[in-house]
Amino acid sequence: MPLEQKVKYEGDCDPEFAKWVVGEIGGENLRHCIQCGICSAACPLSLYMDYTPRRIINLAREGFRKEVLSSFTIWLCSSCYACRVECPKEIHITDIMYLLKRRAIEEGVYPRSFPIPVLAREFGRMIFMFGRVNETLLVTDLFLRTNWFKFLGMIGLGLNLMRTGRMSFLPDTIKRRGELRKVLEALDAEEKKEKKEALS
Ligand code: SF4
Ligand code: SF4
Repeated sequence: MPLEQKVKYEGDCDPEFAKWVVGEIGGENLRHCIQCGICSAACPLSLYMDYTPRRIINLAREGFRKEVLSSFTIWLCSSCYACRVECPKEIHITDIMYLLKRRAIEEGVYPRSFPIPVLAREFGRMIFMFGRVNETLLVTDLFLRTNWFKFLGMIGLGLNLMRTGRMSFLPDTIKRRGELRKVLEALDAEEKKEKKEALS
């Protein structure tokens, strides 16, 4: 692990970030963590994470915003809830991972060229636009944004799938998309209002 990931300074903390996590649904018990490490032991993916779940919880509650939001950990979390089930302090670790992912997308600070956050963002955008996800467009967009070379290598396979009718570039849409957008925008506005009221 690089030295800059090991050494943390108080001056790098953002107390407002820690307050934000605690104020969100799922983040309420964050400060109850006793750093027992059971979540990390239960997590089937902690081996591949740059920060284990225990460390993410610790960094988040201390306000290390940059480290947490730019970590690979939050994107590697598969939402299996094993950590949540085992945590003796009933901390909603999986929900906290979701909070952090959402914030990372909002701030655009996720690891560059890492496919999962790009996939999550484009998935949401496509639902907003069409009401459905077109896998061909989603995968093409993902490769173009993250790995051009891989995209070039898969053109042949894509063309074959299109020729046999297994893939299509035509967007799959729902009727009355405008109404869905209004619902999503209203939910977004409601959430922002609730947050504002919670902070005031
Ligand atoms: S299991 Fe719960 S209390 Fe223990 S380190 Fe993880 S989050 Fe903290
Ligand atoms: S929910 Fe995420 S962090 Fe928790 S055990 Fe599963 S993969 Fe690990």
